[in-house]
Amino acid sequence: MLEINSLIERLRRDFAGLVFEEGEVFMFRPPCEIYYNVNYLGLPCDKIALLTLHEAAHAVLKHKDYDYDIELVRMEAEAWERSKGLCKEYDVEWDEDFVQDRLDSYRDWIHERSLCPVCGVAGWQDEEGFRYRCPMCERVFGAGQ
Ligand SMILES: [Zn+2]
Ligand SMILES: [Zn+2]
Repeated sequence: MLEINSLIERLRRDFAGLVFEEGEVFMFRPPCEIYYNVNYLGLPCDKIALLTLHEAAHAVLKHKDYDYDIELVRMEAEAWERSKGLCKEYDVEWDEDFVQDRLDSYRDWIHERSLCPVCGVAGWQDEEGFRYRCPMCERVFGAGQ
């Protein structure tokens, strides 16, 4: 079985510019902090490893904070794509279903956020990416980020 702590040690060596810290959830905080949780949702070791590599991929791709929800979805897809390569390098098992589920939950979350509370129609995000506008009733809603 994969030893998660030795994976983290290897990553620390290979990505000297990154800081790996234990946290509640998995998260990349630009430009160089990666949070991981070995007990996350009680997931097995290989999924924890996969999630850790995913966050490392965000860092490798130099992702920044996003302005538009749609950018977030794009960055998620990019990071997973890059994680596939990291999985080969670090001998971590790739799980396509698991990855698709993670991507779907982002898409669902964003779809939900984009719906007008009055009409239930999907709105458009404004130029700053903070709020949505309903194309039916012109209501502005959602706090963004
Ligand atoms: Zn991500
Ligand atoms: Zn509306």
